[in-house]
Amino acid sequence: MNEQESVGPGTGRGTDRVVDHDHGHGDEHGHDHDNDHSEIGPMDLRVRALESVLTEKGYVQPAALDELIEAYQVRIGPRNGARVVARAWVDPDYREWLRRDATAAIAALGYSGRQGEHMVALENTELEHHLVVCTLCSCYPWPVLGLPPTWYKSAPYRARAVRDPRGVLADFGVRLPETTTIRVWDSTAEVRYLVIPRRPAGTEALDEAALAALVTRDSMIGTGLAREPSSRP
Ligand code: FE
Repeated sequence: MNEQESVGPGTGRGTDRVVDHDHGHGDEHGHDHDNDHSEIGPMDLRVRALESVLTEKGYVQPAALDELIEAYQVRIGPRNGARVVARAWVDPDYREWLRRDATAAIAALGYSGRQGEHMVALENTELEHHLVVCTLCSCYPWPVLGLPPTWYKSAPYRARAVRDPRGVLADFGVRLPETTTIRVWDSTAEVRYLVIPRRPAGTEALDEAALAALVTRDSMIGTGLAREPSSRP
């Protein structure tokens, strides 16, 4: 299979469609789109080499880099996004604000910064399910979701999310009725998407914190659904 052929918007099947726009990866993006960097390999080596050189020359401190990675991987993670979603579930005014100006609404909860400067929130409904991909690389909303999972950066996900979104969802154990249109959004260096999953039934009595615990990382990418309250760990 030639991945190059299938990577790119506009090949959604059936009623599902790709929301196409200028991908617009800026120079600051800084990685090589011709390379398939779905596996640790040459890219990892280059990063290490760069880190060594920068450290040697005194431009960066390894401890500071570790701190940055730790912040996005552990402390931030997807919990920030879960709090945003939970707020949107309980507060209609906030949900409206989020849909209108996600960057501001998310920043109001204290989540802003690199890779989250231009956020767009996509609300899942009975009729529409949103799925986010970066077909060219791995653009991802760091301030709300932390660092992207490995599969998000993989060539098969990037290609298949566009070509066969229903198949991808099935791989993730998500089956939606044919009456639900799947919209695929191609993330870019400029715009990052946060999916607002549907609030599970039977959660009327839960408070915001309990609701946030139901919001998984995958549900905010669109490859998953929010947990049912009974399946909470
Ligand atoms: Fe990207």
